[in-house]
Amino acid sequence: DRLVKHFPIHRGILKRTVGQVKAVDGVSFTVGRGETVGLVGESGCGKSTVARMVTRLIEPTSGSITFDGADLVSLPRADLKAYRRKIQMVFQDPFSSLNPRMRIVDSVGEPLVAHGIASGQDKVRRVCELLEMVGLSAKDRNKYPHQFSGGQAQRIGIARALSTDPDLIVCDEAVSSLDVSVQAQVLNLLRQLQRELGLSYLFIAHDLNVVRYISDRVFVMYLGRMVEVGDAESIMAAPQHPYTEALVGAIATPSGEGEERRIRAVAKGEVPSPSNPPKGCYFHTRCPLVMDRCRTEVPPLYNLGDDRSSACFLREKEAVS
Ligand code: SF4
Ligand code: MG
Repeated sequence: DRLVKHFPIHRGILKRTVGQVKAVDGVSFTVGRGETVGLVGESGCGKSTVARMVTRLIEPTSGSITFDGADLVSLPRADLKAYRRKIQMVFQDPFSSLNPRMRIVDSVGEPLVAHGIASGQDKVRRVCELLEMVGLSAKDRNKYPHQFSGGQAQRIGIARALSTDPDLIVCDEAVSSLDVSVQAQVLNLLRQLQRELGLSYLFIAHDLNVVRYISDRVFVMYLGRMVEVGDAESIMAAPQHPYTEALVGAIATPSGEGEERRIRAVAKGEVPSPSNPPKGCYFHTRCPLVMDRCRTEVPPLYNLGDDRSSACFLREKEAVS
C-alpha cells in the first residue's frame, strides 16, 4: 500500500479548488517496537505531512503506516482516542506547544486529565516523576515556560509526550531549533528514555547528521516520495541515490572520514514546488547524473536486498525482486 495525500490548493476569494498538491506520494513504511525510524529530507518534502498522518491530525487518502503490526492510518475513528494516547508528538518549537500562562504542572499534566489518567494530587505526583525522568527538577512544576531555556523547554515537551505512557513518539524537527551541544543532550535523553521505556520513535528532521545519530533505519524523502531506505550506517557509508549522496556530501567533513567518501553528486538549485513537481524522477532537475529517461519515467523504489531500497534508474540492474 502506498500513502498518498493530496491537498486542495485554494486560490482567490471564491476559494475554488484549482489543483492538488501531492504532499505525500507513494510513502509506505513500518515502525517496529523499540525502533527508531528516521525520516529525512528538505523542507517541503512531505515529512511533516507524514507526521500528521501518523498522529491522525489529518486523514490520509490512502496508504499504510504500520506500527507494531497495526495499520495506523486505517484505524477506525472510534479507536482514535485510545490510539492518540499511545502515540504522542514532540514538536520543533517547544514554547509554541506550551501555554505561556500555564504553570508547567498543568501543561505537562494536561494529557493526564484529558485522557482520564490522573487528576488532582495524583496528577502532581506524576508530573514530578515525569520532570525527573527528563532531567528536570520536581520543583520546576510551579514555573512558567519563559523561565526555561530552549533545551529545558524541549525536555518539558518530552515529559508531556511521555505523560500518557505512549508506545510511539513522533519527533518532528524536535531538536532543529536548538544549539548543537543542546541537540546532543536532548538526543541522548531520547535514547536513554527509549532504553528505559522501550519506546519507538519516528524521528523527522532535515538534518541527516541528526537523523543518522538516533535512527536504526532511515527513510529519505524528496518532494513527497521515498527515494532511499536503509539502515543508518549503510546509508552514510554508501548512499544508493544521488539525492542521498548530496545530503551525505553536505555533511561530510573536509578531513578524515569525509575525505574517504566519493561525493559524486552535488545537488544544485532549489527544490521544485510540490504543487508543480517535475515529470519523471522528481529529482531530475537537480540530479548531476540525469539521463533521458529520468525526464519522463518515474523510477520505482528498487529493492536492493539487505533492507535497502533506492528509487533511481541507476540501481535498476542491482534490483532483487
Ligand atoms: Fe538522477 Fe535519474 Fe536517478 Fe533520478 S532516476 S536520481 S534523475 S539518475
Ligand atoms: Mg516540517
